[in-house]
Amino acid sequence: MDLPKLSASLHDCQRCQLSAGRTQVVFGTGNPHASIMFVGEAPGFYEDREGEPFVGAAGKLLTELLRSIGLERSDIYIANVIKCRPPNNRDPLPDEIDTCKPFLLQQIALIQPKLVCTLGNFATQTLLERKVGITKVRGQMIQLEHFAVFPLLHPAAALHQGNLRVPLKEDFQKLTTVLEQMSKTPTSSPSTLSTSKAPSKETSADPPTQMTLF
Ligand code: URA
Repeated sequence: MDLPKLSASLHDCQRCQLSAGRTQVVFGTGNPHASIMFVGEAPGFYEDREGEPFVGAAGKLLTELLRSIGLERSDIYIANVIKCRPPNNRDPLPDEIDTCKPFLLQQIALIQPKLVCTLGNFATQTLLERKVGITKVRGQMIQLEHFAVFPLLHPAAALHQGNLRVPLKEDFQKLTTVLEQMSKTPTSSPSTLSTSKAPSKETSADPPTQMTLF
C-alpha cells in the first residue's frame, strides 16, 4: 500500500453516516516524505468543497504560523482525524473517529513522520489514546513508539477566542526548538522524561529540556 492507493481506496468510502452529507473525502495533502505532519479535526465547508485540509480561515492562520517559523505547507503533510465533513461542522462523534482512525494511522505509517503536531483536542486525544485536555499538554513533546506528538491549540479555536492566539504563537516558537533538535540529532535515541500520568508507552518532555529524540 502507498499513499495514493490508500487515498483511492477511501474515495467512495461509505463506512459511516458522514458519507451521506459530504461533497468529497478530504484525504490529506503535502509532502508525502515529510518528517513533520499536522493533524486537525475534520474538514469544514471549504475543505469539503476544495478536497484539501485547512484551506479556510483556520488554514490561512496555520499557513501564517508555519511561515513564522520558516516552513511552507509543501514542507509538511496535513491531514485530519476524520476525512469527511460533519454536518454544520459539528464535533466528530466517537464512532466516526473510531471508523476513520485506522486510516489516519495508516497515513502516518506510510509517511513515517518523526513528529506529529496535533491541532486541538480531537487529534491530540485520538493519537494519545487518552482524554487529556489540549490546554494541559499543549507545547509538550510526547514520545510514542514510532513518532513524537507535539500538541498545539487548534487554529480555529484561536480565531474564535482571541486570547488563545498568543499561546498558539508561543507554541509554534517552541516547535522551532524541537525542529532544531531534530535536525541536529537525526539518529539518536529518545531521552525524555517519564511522566506518572502518561501511559507506559509514552514519555514526555518539554522542548527546552535535554531532548535527543531524533
Ligand atoms: N480545517 C481542517 O481541515 N481541519 C480542521 O480541523 C479545521 C479546519
